[in-house]
Amino acid sequence: MKVRTRVAPSPTGDPHVGTAYVALVNYCFAKRHGGEFILRIEDTDRARSTAESEAAILDSLRWCGLHWDEGPDVGGPHGPYRQSERSAIYREYAARLLASGDAFRCFCTPERLDAMRVAQRAAGQLTRYDGLCRTYDAAEVARREAAGEPSVVRLRVPDDGTCIVEDGRRGPIEFEWSSVDMQVLLKSDGLPTYHLANVVDDHLMEITHVFRGEEWVSSAPKHMLLYRYFGWTAPKLTHLPLLRNPDKSKLSKRKNPTGILFYRSLGYAPEALLNFLGLLANPAHEGVEELMDLAHLVERFDPAQIPLGGPVFDVGKLDWLNGRFLRERLDDAQFVERVRAWGASPERMRKIAALARPRVERLSDLGPLLAFLFAGRLAIAADQLRGGKLEDRQVRQALQYALWELDRLDEWRVSGIEATFVGIAQRLGVKFRDVARPFYVAITGSPTSIPLYDAIELLGRDVVRERLRVALGLLGVPSKRELDAWFEEWKGVS
Ligand code: GLU
Repeated sequence: MKVRTRVAPSPTGDPHVGTAYVALVNYCFAKRHGGEFILRIEDTDRARSTAESEAAILDSLRWCGLHWDEGPDVGGPHGPYRQSERSAIYREYAARLLASGDAFRCFCTPERLDAMRVAQRAAGQLTRYDGLCRTYDAAEVARREAAGEPSVVRLRVPDDGTCIVEDGRRGPIEFEWSSVDMQVLLKSDGLPTYHLANVVDDHLMEITHVFRGEEWVSSAPKHMLLYRYFGWTAPKLTHLPLLRNPDKSKLSKRKNPTGILFYRSLGYAPEALLNFLGLLANPAHEGVEELMDLAHLVERFDPAQIPLGGPVFDVGKLDWLNGRFLRERLDDAQFVERVRAWGASPERMRKIAALARPRVERLSDLGPLLAFLFAGRLAIAADQLRGGKLEDRQVRQALQYALWELDRLDEWRVSGIEATFVGIAQRLGVKFRDVARPFYVAITGSPTSIPLYDAIELLGRDVVRERLRVALGLLGVPSKRELDAWFEEWKGVS
């Protein structure tokens, strides 16, 4: 049997280093066994999935150097590889489950489900579908359907007993069926939920091994049940501990940059990033043989070594590996080529030159004017962010609004960025001129520079987010209460 693994990201945000970690583990396992590695886009959440996020995921995994044998861009014999293009397949499998009685139609209204959950919570019970529609006979279902009542398809779950999920790293994990919800498989619009699509696709795409984030452990019993109902062999599941901040909290963009593209923007080499992630999955090599390319990582890969404690994403270690890579693995010409590809492509240089030319008297003015475009963290102090007409609270609120607003921006272009900042000043009821200063300082390190929106476009979403986050931290990280209050105000006017 050919080993086939996959990474199945949902295109709902910036590509996360955790996705690169999961992809790398799946890649290494497949290649270690002469197998194939597949990329599948899980865009069942139509409201949150965006084409931009999908493009960024493909771009960033490609940049990492992880080549997939099949995927939405390269095709393959098991396509399409984008779930939104496979709806008819899922409907067919949902129909099979309905026919065998392993799933049932549920006509409950959102109001009834809400009331049910409130009552369950009040009684100190687990919130879980109570099974009302499971009791309907065929005639009742037909009557409701004929009357045009909207319905979803739910998974039938045993009333009692336990489910054992065999995890490749943790061994057997036991779940009470009574704690497993009767999951919606097909929504009323006929589109699948993640659970149905994931199982059907892993089967049809002949996936043999799945390494995925541990946040999916609790979904595994539902998946096992689906494999059983369909009469399919489940792939071997291994749940990977989530990456952690040094303080052991879950790696999140509120505390640390988590975007793969952030690391690209800052001039990390993809080889060093993979090397770093590979060591997290294989800490036995820590201190023994540190500098490893992808072929080495594949050769040394051993799933038994994957640590069960959350691996710490230690940027200091990544810096060290990256420095070694730049010094030891590239000759002079390759180094120059990296510099060019990172920040000095002819296209980028043309854009920068057009913005800088009206603002210099001598070419030697370019250094101080443009240094911020080629820098990581800027050396700024809280007082530089002050000095305008705004109070600290207003500046902090403006910075936080910008973080939220820019996250929502689909297209990273000057026009949208400009509208965002003008909108922020309006919401806060202040002049744009007054908020511009702290934004200039936060983003360019100085109160004047090339036009702000162009600077933001050139720096890219990840670097800008990080600079805003750092500036906000300098004036005081908002408390949970502040954030909640600001969020209400922000939502109120959006
Ligand atoms: N779409 C899921 C994610 O983004 C994939 C989970 C899985 O690998 O089963 O994490």
